[in-house]
Amino acid sequence: MKYLSVDKIKNFTKNLLFPAFCLGCQREGTFLCQDCQHLLEISEYNYCLCEKNPLRLFPNQSTNQAIRQAHGKCPKCQDNKLSGLYFALPYKEKSLTKKLIRNFKYKPYIKDLSKPLAKILVEHFILTNKNTNIIWDNSVLVPVPLYIKKQKERGYNQSEELCYELSKILKVPVVSDCLIKIKNTEPQMKLKKAQRENNLTNAFTIKNPAQVAGKKVFLVDDVYTTGSTMQECASVLNIKGVKQVWGISIAREEFL
Ligand SMILES: [Zn+2]
Ligand SMILES: [Zn+2]
Repeated sequence: MKYLSVDKIKNFTKNLLFPAFCLGCQREGTFLCQDCQHLLEISEYNYCLCEKNPLRLFPNQSTNQAIRQAHGKCPKCQDNKLSGLYFALPYKEKSLTKKLIRNFKYKPYIKDLSKPLAKILVEHFILTNKNTNIIWDNSVLVPVPLYIKKQKERGYNQSEELCYELSKILKVPVVSDCLIKIKNTEPQMKLKKAQRENNLTNAFTIKNPAQVAGKKVFLVDDVYTTGSTMQECASVLNIKGVKQVWGISIAREEFL
């Protein structure tokens, strides 16, 4: 028991004493009931990484595996460090999506939201025909890491929890001790664009690169805003012989 933080014990006790209520309609039983889940607009499309009005990508019918895998961004975004991004929901003000993610990430720290949120992502993969071996073979799921102090405060890394739930469904292994955050950065949302890049410089490093060498990496985060965090992670991973780095986020900040 000495390894359990006070927050972890609190969280455990709270879940025991207080049953779950749907964050959409307050119905007792789960944190997201079936009815409210059906009201979420899970995307049937994939979009490019472009910052403004991202281009909707149409399914590539090519039988050539290399061409299909490269089909994650428009010609203008070929220099982006990420090969592409999958996200299930728009991140709108006052939306249920935002409420779910905030409760997952901040107080009251509902760690179990990883389950319905992973299911939403899988639903998106099904709707966009990404539930195939071509996509997931020889892949690993890598959570965007938190700085150690922050992870201790929260008691868990929400992206890592999401990875474990995705892994159960997709049967793709999780590598959580490879990409490490070594700098305590400011929240990106608080900073101006120019400050954002400096903030992340040398923030991440790789331990045990053999775990990701030759693999397709799917970086997992809760929300994709400008993409600078994922791009910084991708540039660190790319120099270690990783095949491709893709992003997965539950939601994307509506299109900046
Ligand atoms: Zn509900
Ligand atoms: Zn683009």
